Amino acid sequence: MLDFRFDNAFVRELPGDPESGLQSRQVHGALYSAVAPTPVAAPRLLAYSREVAQLLDLAAADVETPAFAEVFGGNRLLPGMQPYAANYGGHQFGHWAGQLGDGRAISLGEVVNRAGQRWELQLKGAGPTPYSRRADGRAVLRSSIREFLCSEAMHHLGVPTTRALCLIGTGETVVRDMFYDGHPRDEPGAIVCRVAPSFLRFGNFELPASRGDTALLRRLVDFAIARDFPELAAAQAPGSEALYAAWFGEICARTAVLIAHWMRVGFVHGVMNTDNLSILGLTIDYGPYGWIDDFDPDWTPNTTDRQHRRYRFGQQAQIAYWNLGRLAGAIAPLFADHDGLHAGLQRYVDGFVAADRANVAAKLGLREAGDDELALMQALHALLREAEVDMTLFFRGLAEVDAAAGDVDALRAAFYDADKFAAARPAFEAWLRRYAQCLARDALPDAQRVARMRAANPRYVLRNYLAQQAIDRAEQGDMGGVHELLDVLRRPYDDQPGRDAFAQRRPDWARTRAGCSMLSCSS
Ligand code: AMP
Ligand code: MG
Repeated sequence: MLDFRFDNAFVRELPGDPESGLQSRQVHGALYSAVAPTPVAAPRLLAYSREVAQLLDLAAADVETPAFAEVFGGNRLLPGMQPYAANYGGHQFGHWAGQLGDGRAISLGEVVNRAGQRWELQLKGAGPTPYSRRADGRAVLRSSIREFLCSEAMHHLGVPTTRALCLIGTGETVVRDMFYDGHPRDEPGAIVCRVAPSFLRFGNFELPASRGDTALLRRLVDFAIARDFPELAAAQAPGSEALYAAWFGEICARTAVLIAHWMRVGFVHGVMNTDNLSILGLTIDYGPYGWIDDFDPDWTPNTTDRQHRRYRFGQQAQIAYWNLGRLAGAIAPLFADHDGLHAGLQRYVDGFVAADRANVAAKLGLREAGDDELALMQALHALLREAEVDMTLFFRGLAEVDAAAGDVDALRAAFYDADKFAAARPAFEAWLRRYAQCLARDALPDAQRVARMRAANPRYVLRNYLAQQAIDRAEQGDMGGVHELLDVLRRPYDDQPGRDAFAQRRPDWARTRAGCSMLSCSS
């Protein structure tokens, strides 16, 4: 039975757009527009996450009904649902872009589950909203599969993220020009139901601030603190600068942890615009993201960003800081004195440094990492990059290597290029011996060291080409690849016998194939 308890605080407590209808418009003085999903031809359940279903107190039997596909395909509203599109702005690629808003995401409401947790349900690709501008409000199957799989993969990796309940095929096609090069084609459409305690982004606060609407900004801040940060609200006087500073500091601290996780697992978000950063410190808006194969800090999967590489792997920590600066600027009108905002930004810096240090220690299997160990990791990064080494395979394999013996052959499978392997061998042998000295000084018992490394260095990540293979099959009507990947990625830190194929170097054919190494924002 699909009988959720809804408590739609956002639409109940905050001002909505007085206008109705779908026509694109600038919406002032309001934080959302009420809008229903547009029904689709033939909604069909393609995949779902049993863990997220459980969070919502749903049994498998509830999910596998025609009613479920109708509701999450946008054809039917349940009692208590109050669908809306949120109004927000954002800085895109370093420039203020004005009002953006949910152009193809429609929130259905806030479910409170039996455990008392609040989970907002949001359909992505459910049709146009007043924020769609000239676009269609829809999403294609390939990008929906990528969002569905990665949301769940990230969760199982221990990375904060929005979740995905289900993937629904719409039975309709959507026209997309994948590389914006004048070759539009029909693609199958799909809808993902995303689930998170809150989908508020930095950009929700930037928009009223950009319009000088401090009263609306303050209402939204007070609401966000009360609903999403109750522990802070309990500790400081309502409406006080101290409370606002504590809130901003908490966002900074969570963002630091988030980015450190991305760097640990080799995730590149691809579009870190301020409308794509969550105030809860969740990974949000899976678009042209990618996973590092050969270790390259300059790599970005996003072809739209090919020239400047603003959102490349190695720059994510700096970009998050820049984005937090934009959020600080937006909420500055709530402060008479900006010390609290500066202190928050410093929490980001300190938090990232601490989390990064913890990552170095865990990835190398050390109790802790001091400056020597940080330098050791830096030296390794330089080697990995120079010799074109697979990040995931190398760190996973490192736990099993006889470092004192300089046994680099045990890591051969992580190298993409035989000549580079031969050339880099002496440098890696020397690095391994230096590493062995660190291990000896640190003296963590072997079994503990290995366990620590295996918990920080996943064996299975959602390599770009694996996702693409599952998409290729799905586009032929076979969802087997998606289901299998979802299952493998449930236990990314376990060795899963019989599943070696999911823990291999990217094959050569995938190096330059669209969808495998290059992705556009077209989705
Ligand atoms: P993104 O780059 O996915 O974060 O999207 C940036 C903005 O474009 C957001 O306001 C989206 O809602 C909007 N957008 C992206 N794709 C579509 C689409 N197919 N239809 C309507 N709006 C879209
Ligand atoms: Mg977005």
